[in-house]
Amino acid sequence: MSAVDFHQILGLTPDASAAEIKRAYKRLAMRWHPDRNPDPQAHVQFRLVREAFERLSRVPDQAPEAPPRRHTPKGADRRMDIEVDLHEAARGATVTVTIEGREACDECDGTGQRSYGRTTMCGTCYGSGRVRDEGGLTPCTACNGKGFTTDNHCPACTGRGWNPADRQLAINIPAAMLPGEELRVAGQGGPAPENGEPGDLYLTLRAKPHPIFRLNGHDLHVTVPVSIFRTLAGGLIEVPTLDGIREVLLSEASAGTEIRVPKAGFPGRGRRPAGDLQVHLETQYPQFLSKEQKAMLEMAEQVLLHQLEAQSPSLANWNAALEAYR
Ligand SMILES: [Zn+2]
Ligand SMILES: [Zn+2]
Repeated sequence: MSAVDFHQILGLTPDASAAEIKRAYKRLAMRWHPDRNPDPQAHVQFRLVREAFERLSRVPDQAPEAPPRRHTPKGADRRMDIEVDLHEAARGATVTVTIEGREACDECDGTGQRSYGRTTMCGTCYGSGRVRDEGGLTPCTACNGKGFTTDNHCPACTGRGWNPADRQLAINIPAAMLPGEELRVAGQGGPAPENGEPGDLYLTLRAKPHPIFRLNGHDLHVTVPVSIFRTLAGGLIEVPTLDGIREVLLSEASAGTEIRVPKAGFPGRGRRPAGDLQVHLETQYPQFLSKEQKAMLEMAEQVLLHQLEAQSPSLANWNAALEAYR
């Protein structure tokens, strides 16, 4: 006599857990119980299912040669992205994440079946269990010759055996975590297997686009519009940082240059130092000039011409070349 595959009778793979075995048994026992199922094969099937369950429930002493497990079995890890703005990433924040989950349906004890199926007359054979074809009357395939069909699906869970059970988790994001870095939340991953522990949750930090700053590594970049007069004359300008506004001294004739403010970028964490703030100056020209401004610029130009060699050697060279060409 060939070996009986008890797992197969219960529709399971050989690695099924005790909980899965129990669940499959409940489902099949409900389906094949002779009190509920008028199929003439029902009692045979029911006995088979019960025997399979009893045999498989004795499993522990059946596998003595299995190597002892070194580690506690663990549920699957779960990975999610978590989006914060740059300020939250820099200072730390508490955010709520929603973890999709499932819980076994109470109504059907996770079997997906209801105890009393809803019986409907078969529409294909009109309840006779037979249909007419070339060979005469043959058993109806739509109802397996029973003349009726039974809807066993649990209405509470539409037959899935589980209902969605989402969880809300409050997550503390430590200060100065860089976007792209991962935060591990122990025990919030997939469900624990038999005698095991649940998986972990890994959250990858993502930064929402910021209206002012761009983050590059741990350096913060910012474009600051500055008037042509200020870029020529130098002086203090206001520059935003993640901690608020700072005054930065602009040297004379700074058009086209960039300013680096050390340690004013993304804050440091552990051994990682704080980043720098890289200020890109964007020279702004006025749309028009007042009479006074024109007069002052004219005066500035005259002064320049008087000391051209010192103030602008390239312009002085050009003037000399022009003179030779004349
Ligand atoms: Zn039928
Ligand atoms: Zn249910």
